[in-house]
Amino acid sequence: MEEVELAQRDITPLAELVGTDRWSHVQESWDAARNELSGQTIWHVNATATGGGVAEMLLALLPLWRTTGIDTRWLVLHGEPTFFGITKRLHNLLHGSPGDGGELGEAERTNYEQVLAANLDHLRTLVQPGDLVVLHDPQTAGLIEGVKALGARVIWRSHIGRDDPNEHTARGWRFLAPYIEHADRVVVSRLLYRPPTVPLHKIAVITPCIDPFTAKNMDIPADVVEKVLVQAGLLEGERDGLVEFPRRDGSTGAVRALDNAVTEGGPLPRGARAIVQVSRWDRLKDMSGVMRGFLDNVTAPDAHLVLCGPAVDGVSDDPEGAEVLADCRTIFNALDDSAKGRVHLFSIPMDDTDENAYIINALQRYAYAVVQKSLFEGFGLTVTEAMWKSRPVIASAVGGIQNQIAHGIDGWLLPDPTDLASLGAEINVLLADERVAQRLGLAAKEKVLRRFLGDGSMFSYALLMQNLLSEG
Ligand code: UDP
Repeated sequence: MEEVELAQRDITPLAELVGTDRWSHVQESWDAARNELSGQTIWHVNATATGGGVAEMLLALLPLWRTTGIDTRWLVLHGEPTFFGITKRLHNLLHGSPGDGGELGEAERTNYEQVLAANLDHLRTLVQPGDLVVLHDPQTAGLIEGVKALGARVIWRSHIGRDDPNEHTARGWRFLAPYIEHADRVVVSRLLYRPPTVPLHKIAVITPCIDPFTAKNMDIPADVVEKVLVQAGLLEGERDGLVEFPRRDGSTGAVRALDNAVTEGGPLPRGARAIVQVSRWDRLKDMSGVMRGFLDNVTAPDAHLVLCGPAVDGVSDDPEGAEVLADCRTIFNALDDSAKGRVHLFSIPMDDTDENAYIINALQRYAYAVVQKSLFEGFGLTVTEAMWKSRPVIASAVGGIQNQIAHGIDGWLLPDPTDLASLGAEINVLLADERVAQRLGLAAKEKVLRRFLGDGSMFSYALLMQNLLSEG
């Protein structure tokens, strides 16, 4: 296992942003939780420090947890390709999709348990009786019983799920049920995502959130946005001097002149209006569907589509990424020249996560509109991120996206995520009337300010801890 170093954070800017009233509730609840925990440590364990929503949220939240005076630490488990193949299968199944259709029999269970047994050995050297351990997602469920045996309380946090369970979700939960029954609490993003075998009194619902001050979400002036994109090679123009960004550790980085971030389609031309989807290269994000929906329906000549994800060697627990990007490239290469001129595939390196975050931030801000046409979605932080940047968002009415967008008020939903004509029609309306786009964007930012900054989630966790720790 690797420990991820957590940045020092000053809580004042968040407290100021959300206001004294809201913040004082958070503080009181954490003071009470700290008393219950009486000096013990909170450990978080997940499968990756970079790439995807879970890593993003832990990077955002855990430094804030530390400011409350509770020793909070983050460990990333160690796995190998077979293990991550099995856990990716589970991930797809819990979203209700067959994934690679592979087995989940005794051989898979043995591999899963062996990999986690090795990780448990490491945890034995760290976790003390009375500690609280928060284990994230299917990759960690097999640790629950072992960690409980160390005398710790265990919360299992599941970030995925599906509103209408089917035979695939049932299969995924069947594999996990013997592990998660040992958890003291199971946290889900929506009540509908709860594992069917866990009694309701053990379930808690906590909504994900973003950190408005990190490189991913901090304000960037429009002229700097362009400089970042030019420097990264994503927007046409002359590179012009140093483009700096703040790192989580407090130091300053400089955006590199990236030569390989554009995978297909060249950089965005000046003056183009960019319709952007940012996602991991995962089939459930349906990047290729976005491409078809755009090319078959969007007519404005200045509208360009950007599909942007991480460089595929960068997300270690996501073996599907390279395949999905390769499929998108195949579709791109079969397009005629005029279509090729309107689509851009970007893969941003993940070797420097602060730089990656800053480039994604700039791209989201540069977007005329943001799309998230997921077939299924746990919560969809990319939607929250774009809303925070006052972008009009068109996103599938699936999973946690429905918690975020009130259709027609602060974004638009796509009732059927496979309906490519409606996606194109919604994009066309936004392109035709910039005022509509602006109004949706402003309301979107307001919504995130009210609901999806870190304070709400901190408040919920503090109450959950109080409940759990006072049980004795
Ligand atoms: N992301 C990123 N770089 C990329 C693509 C995605 O940092 O090239 C981030 C994105 O900004 C968001 C997270 O990965 O913070 C994706 O989270 P989401 O909840 O949308 O989906 P998940 O990947 O967890 O399914």
